[in-house]
Amino acid sequence: MQTSFTLAQLADPDVSESDKILRACVHCGFCTATCPTYVLDGNELDSPRGRIYLIKDMLEHDRPATAEVVQHIDRCLSCLSCMTTCPSGVHYMHLVDHARGYIERTYHRSLADRFLRAVLAKLMPYPQRFRLALTAAIAGKPFVSLVAALGLKRLAAMLDLAPWGLPHRPLKPQTFGARGPRKGRVILLAGCVNDLLAPEINAATVRVLTRHGIEVVVAEGAGCCGSLVHHMGRERQALAQVRANIDAWLAVEGADAIVTNLSGCGTTVKDYGFMLRTDPVHAERAARVSSLARDVCEYLATLPLQAGAPASRLTVAYHAACSLQHGQRITRQPKELLAKLGFAVKDVPDGHLCCGSAGTYNILQPEIAKRLRERKVGTIERLRPDVIAAGNIGCITQIAAGTEFPVVHTVELIDWATGGPTPRRLSADRRDAVMRPSAPAE
Ligand code: SF4
Ligand code: SF4
Repeated sequence: MQTSFTLAQLADPDVSESDKILRACVHCGFCTATCPTYVLDGNELDSPRGRIYLIKDMLEHDRPATAEVVQHIDRCLSCLSCMTTCPSGVHYMHLVDHARGYIERTYHRSLADRFLRAVLAKLMPYPQRFRLALTAAIAGKPFVSLVAALGLKRLAAMLDLAPWGLPHRPLKPQTFGARGPRKGRVILLAGCVNDLLAPEINAATVRVLTRHGIEVVVAEGAGCCGSLVHHMGRERQALAQVRANIDAWLAVEGADAIVTNLSGCGTTVKDYGFMLRTDPVHAERAARVSSLARDVCEYLATLPLQAGAPASRLTVAYHAACSLQHGQRITRQPKELLAKLGFAVKDVPDGHLCCGSAGTYNILQPEIAKRLRERKVGTIERLRPDVIAAGNIGCITQIAAGTEFPVVHTVELIDWATGGPTPRRLSADRRDAVMRPSAPAE
C-alpha cells in the first residue's frame, strides 16, 4: 500500500513504524474472513482492511480522530486473528495500538464514555481498589436485568461479569521454594484481576512449578502488566506500569523466566521491548524482560512433567485464547500437555474467532461481546465436553457467564493431573467420572 507521510511526520518513531506496517499491506482482504467483527456484521469498515484504511487516512492527514474512525477502532477486539491470517506479515497490533493512543489524544469522547473509561482505568489495574468495586457490585447483581432494561448496557455487562461471592485477596510478594532439588527459578506475574476472581489459577501455577523443582518469586513492586489501559490508548499510564514491572522484575536475581498464566498480559509483556524501544533508560531492560517472558504452558512444556494420581480421561474442550494463539503464537503446547497427561482434548470449531472477552471489550462493547460469546459457547457445547479449558482469565470469565459447563484454566488441569487438587469448578459428578490414568506418554 502506498503511503504519503511527510518527512516531518516520519520523524515521529510511531508514525515511522506505522508507515512501515501500512506499506506491508497489499489490501488482499484475506484477513476479513477471519475477523470476528466482520464475520458478525459484514461491514468492510469493521474488518482489518477497512480499519487499516481508516487509520492510514487519519494518520496521513494528521487530523483529529472522527466519530466514524473511533466507532470502528473501538469495535476492534485486538484479537489479532488478522495477524495470523495475513500473508504479508502486517503487524496490525502495533498499528492499532498507535491508533488507539492517537484517538485518546485527539478525540473528545462523550461524558458517559469518558467516565466509564476513567473508572475502568482507575480501578481494574489496582487490586485493592478493584476488590472494593467487586464487593460493591454484589449488591447490584440481582438487578442486572433491570439495569439492562433501563438502557445501561455497559453497567449491566459489568454487573453480569462480577462474581457473586466476595472477591479474594491478591497474592503478596513472596518466594515459593522448590520441592526437592532446585532446578530453576522463575518470576510469576501474579496479575491484577486474576487473584481476585480466581486465585486457584496462581495457586495451581505455583504448585505445579514448585512440585517440579522450580522456585517461584512474586516480585515486590510488580503490578498490572499495563495491557488494560494500553488497549484503551492511555499510553502514559500503561508505560508507567510497564516501567515499574521492569524495575521490579530485574531486581530479582537469577530468574530463568517470567511466567504468565494470563495470556493477554503475556502478549503485552512480550511486547515491552517494542513499547519502550525509544526510552533512553528502559529500552534495553524492556527488551530483556520481553526475552524472558513465557506463557505457563510454554514453560511447562520444557519440563519433564510427572503424572500423579488421579489423572483423568475427561474430555476437555480447549478454547484457544486469542492472545495465546494469535498474540503469542502458542497453539500446540497447552493441548499437547493435556493430552500427555491423559485428557481427551477436543479443538473448538472456528477456534480462531474470539469469545468476545478481549480485556475490557466485554464491558465497553457489550452487545458485540455477547454475540461472540453466544457463538463461542454454542460451538463449545456441541462438543459435549466434561470441562472447558482456556489460558486466560478474561476468556474463562466470559465463557463461564454463558454456559453451565465448568470452565477452568489449563494449568489447573495440569496441576491436578500431576498431583494437585481437583479444580474447584469441576462439579462432583464430573469429579466422580475421573478414571485412574494409564501411563502418560513420554
Ligand atoms: S491480509 Fe494482510 S495484506 Fe491482506 S488486506 Fe489484510 S492486512 Fe492487508
Ligand atoms: S484484531 Fe481482531 S477484531 Fe481487530 S481487525 Fe484484527 S481480526 Fe478484526
